[in-house]
Amino acid sequence: MNRLLVMVPREGVDRLRAAGSHGSATFRVSDAENVGYLCAISVKEGLTLPVGMTPRTHFLNSGEARQGGFWYRATADLHVHGMAAGHRQSALTVAYFAEQVRSGFKNPGRSDYIALTYAPNAEIDHPGAGVAEFAAWLVTADGVKPLDVACEPQVVGDAQLVPQWPVDPLAAATVTVVGTGSIGGATVHALADYGVGRLVLVDPDRLLWHNLVRHVSGPAQVGKMKVFALRDDLEKLRPDIHIEPHALDVIRDADKVRPLLARSDLVVCTADGVAPRRVVSHLARRAGLEAVLACVLEDGGIGEILRLRPWPDRGCLVCQRQALTDAGAIDPEPALDAGYGTGTRHRPMTAVGSDLHLVGQLAAKAAVATLLECAGHPDQRLPGDHGLLALRPKPGWPPPFDLARAGELRWLDARPPVSGCPTCEEP
Ligand SMILES: [Zn+2]
Repeated sequence: MNRLLVMVPREGVDRLRAAGSHGSATFRVSDAENVGYLCAISVKEGLTLPVGMTPRTHFLNSGEARQGGFWYRATADLHVHGMAAGHRQSALTVAYFAEQVRSGFKNPGRSDYIALTYAPNAEIDHPGAGVAEFAAWLVTADGVKPLDVACEPQVVGDAQLVPQWPVDPLAAATVTVVGTGSIGGATVHALADYGVGRLVLVDPDRLLWHNLVRHVSGPAQVGKMKVFALRDDLEKLRPDIHIEPHALDVIRDADKVRPLLARSDLVVCTADGVAPRRVVSHLARRAGLEAVLACVLEDGGIGEILRLRPWPDRGCLVCQRQALTDAGAIDPEPALDAGYGTGTRHRPMTAVGSDLHLVGQLAAKAAVATLLECAGHPDQRLPGDHGLLALRPKPGWPPPFDLARAGELRWLDARPPVSGCPTCEEP
């Protein structure tokens, strides 16, 4: 059986550091998980200060409150001996423990209790030895047994990545994702994990049972609009990211999508079907916005990332496809209308969820790399604008789709606009 873990939320750490020498402590404990957290302390004036565990839905907030605990200021030596006793799975004597706490020691008598000790001199007395400032104990008449303790650190979340990862520019960025199905759902999760601060989600569809095999949202969300299902999932996982769901159709509601793009830094399109991709390509070009289009070709055999840059020497989606056809390759675009999410009776789609998620995550990487490259991070330059990822390659595919091994990734350069293109040439 693992030892009881006592968790101390940030607020509790701050309060214990600022409090006097001792007081009572209340813990909320889950016996099933053998874990508890400090939920209230009293200070010498007799005032009881509640300590909150965030989020409010945390499982321990409904745990059983165990009163009768204490907290003490203690010597650093107590913590050193506690560490050693913990390794040996032995206990310290009550007399030694009482001697090492500054004042107010409460004899356990017949009622065991949980104690927390704070050793402000841990680092001063034992520099570099890793002696913890806080320790937790089970105080019994037979001895004092060390428990495990975990204090919430000052810095958690994306701030932990500073300075290795450019957290601030990404936190300030807005990315719109058009299409939040199997690929787009994974893109949205990955963008949130990269730390993009605001995500605007556009999709007119509901999450239904047949989507579950490939979608990142689970059965508890069936029936919701996909954009709301994703928002509700991410609110739990990444409360620091702002999610803006819009149940809009990029073609029918293009007039409502246009202002969303106007205040975005980049758009990712993971909608299936030729028409939505063309609309996003057109709207992005008009808005002067970078776009990343992701899809799977050949019934899920190849993942494709296409980055469209609103530059005079780079063509839109239609121009990229035209250039491909002109070079003797096949235009894969029409096959996209088969609908890889559902398939058709004649061409059932066999793409597996994680393959689609991989494409979605690669799209998120391409999007974030584009934002960062523009913000002056040369290590985020992509090898090209057209990425092909082999998921289930088959022999005989024409170039440039002739990938041979699963996991192979090929990057090609973007082509210039085709003369007379209504999207690329300024109206
Ligand atoms: Zn064009």
